[in-house]
Amino acid sequence: MRSANHPHRRFAPGRLWPRECLLCQQTTGEAFFCPACRRELPRADPDGPCAGEQRARRQAPPWRQAWIPWRYAWPIDRLVIGIKFARRLAWARALGELLAEEIPAADSDLVVPVPLHPARLAVRGFNQAQEIALPVARRLALPLSPEAARRWRATRPQSTLSAAERQLNAAGAFRVNRAAIEGRRVLLVDDVVTTGATAASLASAVSAAGAVEVTLAAVARA
Ligand SMILES: [Zn+2]
Repeated sequence: MRSANHPHRRFAPGRLWPRECLLCQQTTGEAFFCPACRRELPRADPDGPCAGEQRARRQAPPWRQAWIPWRYAWPIDRLVIGIKFARRLAWARALGELLAEEIPAADSDLVVPVPLHPARLAVRGFNQAQEIALPVARRLALPLSPEAARRWRATRPQSTLSAAERQLNAAGAFRVNRAAIEGRRVLLVDDVVTTGATAASLASAVSAAGAVEVTLAAVARA
């Protein structure tokens, strides 16, 4: 009972205050999603398109493990679009919290969001991968290092390119701060992984900068 009388206990988020499910708007004791909506989220096939593409290229992926729990389908797609184009940053927090539950914290030392090119960042005003990585880092009690990697060359929007063009487009697009990375186990966080070319390019750059291990986490596979 002593903890119940603790003066800060009443501020515990999502416990005593009723919350609305982001998807069905019903009051729920859970943070962000009611249990029914949460069960309906589209789980990704663990051996999904990324794995297939890697096999087709006969390459081992440049990460030790990838945690991509959902498919880019309703309602995950709506949430991601809302974050990117309607600035629904609370939804990024919701997806980040959910993603964090899928990732073993003990496997990483540092969280690095997949960076946006500065020109795109200037237009959008925020990096959605970083907004998702923030609650991931907080939840896993790991430092977040958005400055550890940056994009140095403008890349055309991946959605306008063929698969082969995407690989070329992503190659060499990142510069990594060796001092931040060397000797660390790095958890890369992105919103959506499409072909995996962008994440693979960053993972290779992070490995080349001396990371001892790279893990990839993203909300969804497209
Ligand atoms: Zn619901």
